Amino acid sequence: MKRLDSFRHQGLRRRLVDELMEKGITDKIVLEAIGKVPRHLFMDSSFVKFAYRDAAFPIGSGQTISQPYTVAFQSQLLKVNAGCKVLEVGTGSGYQAAVLAEMGVELYSIERQSSLYKKCKTLLSDIGYPKIRLFLGDGYAGLPGFEPFDAILVTAGALSVPRQLLLQLRVGGALVVPVGRNVQEMTRVVRLSDDEFEQQCFGSFQFVPMLPGIV
Ligand code: SAH
Repeated sequence: MKRLDSFRHQGLRRRLVDELMEKGITDKIVLEAIGKVPRHLFMDSSFVKFAYRDAAFPIGSGQTISQPYTVAFQSQLLKVNAGCKVLEVGTGSGYQAAVLAEMGVELYSIERQSSLYKKCKTLLSDIGYPKIRLFLGDGYAGLPGFEPFDAILVTAGALSVPRQLLLQLRVGGALVVPVGRNVQEMTRVVRLSDDEFEQQCFGSFQFVPMLPGIV
């Protein structure tokens, strides 16, 4: 992976990590992971020079690579340790997936757009993340047969908390999902028992919509 990285990129990443700390990200494991992932390799070529700005950018197919602050905020809310089994819904560019992989989790990620899924499959194995398990599918259904997960992260805006995903959490696990139409409320739902859940909100964010089906 580091073959395509440089001291200049590493320096820009250190500045990005400092910026995220100033904005309130405290989890050391998350900050270290952001400091390691070469975000410039996940960008559309027109935007590569902005790779270490704390902003979202288009990645083609009408989608975006999430803002580093949002990636860090969601990763922090998952409260996972190395070895935890995590499901991401919305692989997109693969950047958030790489950050989670650097945190040491066993990662499963689903994308509904076949063009993005294919692009990401090649990229992630080429740049040193061959262990991330990628799936083409509708994230509303989760990944039946691979549950339970210690945590599930949705990186697209859902109109309500997807019920199927709650049922694929182990007891004690958490689902982090942005909920809302134009603006989303970052929502964390913890599974307290087989049929009890506790929900908490963590402020407003903006995501592309979570859509049904595969295209
Ligand atoms: N995590 C990504 C963010 C990508 S934007 C990154 O780091 O770049 C959100 C992604 O969710 C888009 O690629 C979109 O196609 C995908 N998506 C939307 N609805 C989905 C669904 N039901 N199942 C799987 N992926 C979905």
